[in-house]
Amino acid sequence: MNENEMMAELLLPDVDKTPDFYENLYPPRNLSEGARVTRIAPSPTGYLHLGTLFTALVNRITASSTGGIFYTRIEDTDKKREVEGGVEDIIDGLLRFGINIDEGFISGEEEKGNYGPYKQSRRAEIYRTYVKELIRQGLAYPCFCTAEELDEVRKIQESRKIRTGYHGEWAKHRNITFNEAKALIDSGKPFVIRLKSPGNEENKVVFEDVIKGKIEMPENDEDFVLLKSDGIPTYHFAHAIDDHLMRTTHVLRGDEWISSVPKHLQLFKILGFKPVKYGHISPIMKLDNGAKRKISKRKDPEAAVHFFAEQGYDCDCVKEYLMTIAASDFEDWRRANPDKNSSEFKFNLKKMSVSGALFDENKLRDISKITVSKLSSSEVYEKITAWAKEFDKEFYGIITENPDYTKSVFAIDRDVKKPRRDIAKWNETRDYFSYFYDRLYKKDYTLPDNIAPEDAKAFLKLYKDVYSPDDDRQQWFERIKQLCPQLGFAAETKEYKANPEAFKGHAGDLSTVLRIAVTGRQNTPDLCSIMKIIGYDRCMARIDDAVSSL
Ligand code: GLU
Repeated sequence: MNENEMMAELLLPDVDKTPDFYENLYPPRNLSEGARVTRIAPSPTGYLHLGTLFTALVNRITASSTGGIFYTRIEDTDKKREVEGGVEDIIDGLLRFGINIDEGFISGEEEKGNYGPYKQSRRAEIYRTYVKELIRQGLAYPCFCTAEELDEVRKIQESRKIRTGYHGEWAKHRNITFNEAKALIDSGKPFVIRLKSPGNEENKVVFEDVIKGKIEMPENDEDFVLLKSDGIPTYHFAHAIDDHLMRTTHVLRGDEWISSVPKHLQLFKILGFKPVKYGHISPIMKLDNGAKRKISKRKDPEAAVHFFAEQGYDCDCVKEYLMTIAASDFEDWRRANPDKNSSEFKFNLKKMSVSGALFDENKLRDISKITVSKLSSSEVYEKITAWAKEFDKEFYGIITENPDYTKSVFAIDRDVKKPRRDIAKWNETRDYFSYFYDRLYKKDYTLPDNIAPEDAKAFLKLYKDVYSPDDDRQQWFERIKQLCPQLGFAAETKEYKANPEAFKGHAGDLSTVLRIAVTGRQNTPDLCSIMKIIGYDRCMARIDDAVSSL
């Protein structure tokens, strides 16, 4: 045994496998040419946020549009920051938003696929095997520096205006001998394993980022940590091992990792792995007082994906919206293909924003309104009740008391050629449909300024005698028109416009009065349909109440 081999045995005596074992266990994937293998690698240190959902979507569509695989890997090496239920929340969230998972974690507990385990805490033996091999080759070494010692070094570097870090002559244990290491271990000193970086700061690494284009950075010369003293790998090391063994082709991740690429490429080279392709995704931005800034977990409720679920945004709409910010050509495609599934869209990473796409809730609302308007009344019923059951129990009780009644409410102006685009999210429906439910209805007889209460009252009294629930839309309006002359109103808008002085108003104004009396609103969907659903008796009672209150 040479000195390096002795060192490897000294540091990791229990590791009995070699990298070949894992290379054979996880062979290259049998996929067609051009198929991309992507992944999302969340740390369960918090709940699913918009950035993770967005990154997952970009990875998902990259895999789908090339006939590849998208998998999930849980990066749980930071046990201190882990939150309970974090994995479940993230995976459930992805699934809820229609991000299908081919492999890896498919729920809080379950994983599937031949390249696992898909949780880093279960892969300790793999990392240790590769580290042992690097030590054997003299490419990694133990470092016994304490946090205080490292801090000391940093202070000296700062005072001398030298680049901080464990590099070059500052890498105290870079040339540690077997005997020195053995003595320190025998005395019970903890150690980490560091890479013996062959890099030189003066040299440049150039790589082609599949989103941002060509990037040039100085080579890494830092002897960064591979395994921490408790045997847990750093992100850098685990990333290289996992993405290689899981046969990832494209690592599409947040651009906070861009500065680490020199380290990562160096690792792939030293380990003899074919490098993955990198694409760095700019964060989603928000306009704050006219200035663009990153969406913040602390300041912005919409940073947490729960926000969208609670508000009752349909998951498909959020996904559709995120597609528009992921790909600048998606909206044109959507206009040309209004009914196609977004999975058919040919996604091109080059069409992603390099500076960071702007989150615009109004745009999300517009997209939602269009999508919701295309749903059938029974789909709307299913979705609103499912949402209300989770987030508004009282409303759930009210709308499910009489499902047929509620379904007829949701059917108004729906299932027609040009449906109304009025609902963006389910939490608006409680107020929007309130006048259909006595427990929610709040009367409000405020009239528009151009209508005098006496005229409104006179009209309502007469109207009671002519209303027939059997009338169709046209007959219904005809009845109102017929009352116009005796009330001094014009039956036709044209007539009124030609000679406004001669009339108090027109038939449209009177229908507004009726609308206010029956629904407490100046604007609603088709009033004739509404009155049929509310029913003759309740309509008459509301009109009576309006007459006595006006
Ligand atoms: N665990 C890392 C994170 O949550 C993953 C980065 C990556 O995708 O490689 O930021």
